[in-house]
Formats: sequence, structure tokens, C-alpha cells
Amino acid sequence: MPWLLPRLAGSVLATWAGMVVGAEVGDWLGWPALCMGIGAALGLAAITTLDALRARRVLDWLRGAGQGSAPAEGGVWSELTYRFERLLRARDRALSDERQRLSQFLQAIEASPNGVLLLDAEGQIDWCNAVAADHFGLDPVRDRGQRVTNLLRAPAFVAHMQQGQFDHPVTVPGPLGRHTLSVTVRPYGDGLKLVLSQDITERERSDAMRRDFVANVSHEMRTPLTVLAGFVETMATLPLTEVERQRVLRLMEQQTTRMQTLLTDLLTLAQLEGSPRPPADQWVSVDALMAQVRADGEALSAGRHRLVFHVPPGGEIAGSATELLSAVGNLVTNAVRYTPDGGQIDVHWRVRADGAGEIDVVDNGVGIDREHIPRLTERFYRVDGSRSRDTGGTGLGLSIVKHVVQRHGGELDIESERGKGSRFRIVVPTARVRVRHNAAAVADAPR
Ligand code: ADP
Repeated sequence: MPWLLPRLAGSVLATWAGMVVGAEVGDWLGWPALCMGIGAALGLAAITTLDALRARRVLDWLRGAGQGSAPAEGGVWSELTYRFERLLRARDRALSDERQRLSQFLQAIEASPNGVLLLDAEGQIDWCNAVAADHFGLDPVRDRGQRVTNLLRAPAFVAHMQQGQFDHPVTVPGPLGRHTLSVTVRPYGDGLKLVLSQDITERERSDAMRRDFVANVSHEMRTPLTVLAGFVETMATLPLTEVERQRVLRLMEQQTTRMQTLLTDLLTLAQLEGSPRPPADQWVSVDALMAQVRADGEALSAGRHRLVFHVPPGGEIAGSATELLSAVGNLVTNAVRYTPDGGQIDVHWRVRADGAGEIDVVDNGVGIDREHIPRLTERFYRVDGSRSRDTGGTGLGLSIVKHVVQRHGGELDIESERGKGSRFRIVVPTARVRVRHNAAAVADAPR
């Protein structure tokens, strides 16, 4: 205790000085013992008063939460203020670390792709991140302290909160009904609750699409299989003439071809979805592509239509030759199938001023009503189901076209008018188009 000695010494010194002065005055007044006592008391009182003043300054400083520098009082007060100051600084540092940790923690929750809502023991909103505010349509400041079930009134959520069985998430619609949310409630602490929300709109949509897809495929397969089973039974049970037998066999062949086409289209779609994007450095000759498309189109039309190709030579597209052939081939096949005999089909290839390429397949066939156009590329979407099936359609052609075009970074644009005809346009981005100027200028005269 190094501070105690000087302090004792100070008190003794003050008392002694008081006694000395008191003795002097006492000698003069003739009451030496009394004056010595008074002098000693005054000396002690002086040092105590000095101490009290110092204590007061230290107290004032402490009352001000130790702000500013500590008063320099010397002796034990210096030691005390130094120790206090150290404690206060340590506390400040711990507080600021704590605050920083809390702020980082809240920032991390804010950055979460999921909504986070904290409820107090009464089920009132204590805090929520921006995602939760967006999911539930809350105002993080205004709605603080509000009972959560007053604001989130979806019956499934209210029932979930009332039941208090939080072992599974609950699915609820978002505030405007545009989203579907999966909400998980986790109790913690003393009656507090953590509410986590996740937007599962996309997941629900793709689940629904998958279910529809399976239902559609099953339906598409069942029809030809039922027909085939009927024919097999007919052949097995009825004595048929040779003419009838031939007819039944032809019809059976039609059904198997239909199933084969469907399976081929399904496999094409599966491959398109599962394989990497087509290369950007493998160049496909548009001339060769169009020659193949023309041969296939003419074989399908069998002279019932006029097919005119407008293809300036030398064009090249970077990508997959098989995919591009499948896309343009599908468009020309459709044009043939949906254009009555005697109609005309024009196929154009051109490079635009901005360097992008355009392939147009134009027909003057049956055309399509405006309301169907946005849905044409959906799988199994058909405007006229019987015509599609009668002409060997699977309802997957335009989905394949759209996939191929998107995989090449392009766009599919459809214009059509019922009774007048249609124009399907594939736009290929500039980066995937080039023209070989030394290409042999093959005249591509209309036939
Ligand atoms: P489908 O095998 O039924 O032809 P697609 O996906 O190729 O399937 O086309 C979807 C629907 O779009 C068709 O059922 C048809 O109604 C319509 N369609 C496609 N191409 C044309 C066209 N050139 N003219 C008129 N309708 C078309």
C-alpha cells in the first residue's frame, strides 16, 4: 500500500503543524495546552477538508460517466481515478466491441435471403429484417411492438401460432397473394420466437410444372397405346380380310410413329436442358443449314406448298448445328403443317445493320389468334389439338425452338393473324454471327 504512508504522513504532519502553531499562539495567550489541541484539530480539519474537496472533484468526474480526463489530485486520489479510468475505458471498449458484434450480426441477418422476424414473449414484433418486411408487407419501424397475428392474418399462420406446434413449416400466401411463403417458427430463450420466411413461389411453380408435365406426357403416351392395344386385340380376336389387316397395320404404324416422335422430342428437350450452352467458337454454315431445312421441308410438303428460301451466301452462326437444324426445321415443319395446300412458305436469312442475324419463317397458313401467342412455347400447348395431332405434332416443337434460341443467346419473336398466316423470327446475337465474304455466291433462287 504505497499510497497509505504519504497519506498518514500528511495527516500527522498537518496535525503536528497545527500543534506547533497552536503552542506558539498558546504561549502568547497563556493557554498553551488548549491552543495546541485546537491547532492539532484545525490541522486535521484542514487536511480532511482538502481531502473532501478532492473527493468531490473525483465524484463529479465519475458522475459525468468518466468523460474527459480524470482530475489530477495526487496521492490516493490519483491512484483511485487511475483505476476508475482504466475500468471505465475497459468497459467502453467492451461495449463498443459488443455493439460492433451486434451490428455485424444484424447486418448478416439483413443479408440473409430469408426473412427473419423476432417476436417477444407476447408474440409482438421485436425486430425484422428487410426481407421479412417485404415478405409480410411490414414496416420494420412502425410495426415494432405490434402483435404478429394482428398483422399476418393468413389463417394457416394464425392457426399455426395458436397451436404452438412448431416442428414443421407452414405454407402461407404473401400479403398481395403474389408469392407463396414457407414460414418456420422456432421458439428460443424465455418464450421468445424466431420466425423464418422463405419465398417458395418459384419452387411451387416448378413443382406444378413438373406435375403438369408428367400428367401431359402420360396422357400423350396413353392415347396411342390405347389405340394400339385396341388394334392388337382386334387382330387377335377377329378374322380380318387382307385389306382390313393392311389398314389396321397402317394405323398401328401411325400410332407407333407418333409415340416415337413424342419420345424423340422429349429426349431433345431433356438434352437441351441438361447440356452446357452451345460453343461460341464453332461456326455453322447457314447455307448448309438452310439446304438441309429445305430438303426436309420439301419432303414433308411433298409438293403441296411453294417453299421459297432467301439466303444470301456466306452466313455463319456460332453454336450447335444439330440444335439450329432442329429449331429452324421445327419452324418450317410447322409452317408446312399449318398452311393449307397451295400456300407459300418463305424462309429469310439476313444480317442486320447491328450485326445480329435474323431467320424468318413466314407462311400464309391458318394463323393464330393473338391471345394464344404468349403461350405457344409452353410444353404441350396447342391452339388446335386435333390439327396438331393429325399432322403428327407433339406440342413440343416450339418449346424446343425457344430452348435452342435461348441457349444461343437469341430471341424468338412471333407475329400471327388468324386466317392470314404467321411469321416466326429467330434473332441471333451479333457475337454469334459472321459472314464469310469469300463464300461462293450461290444463287438461291426461289423455286
Ligand atoms: P405442335 O406439335 O402441336 O405443332 P408446337 O409447339 O410446334 O406444337 O406448336 C404449338 C402450337 O402452335 C401448335 O399446336 C399450333 O397450334 C401453333 N402453331 C405453331 N406453328 C404454327 C404456324 N406456323 N401456323 C399456325 N399455328 C402454328
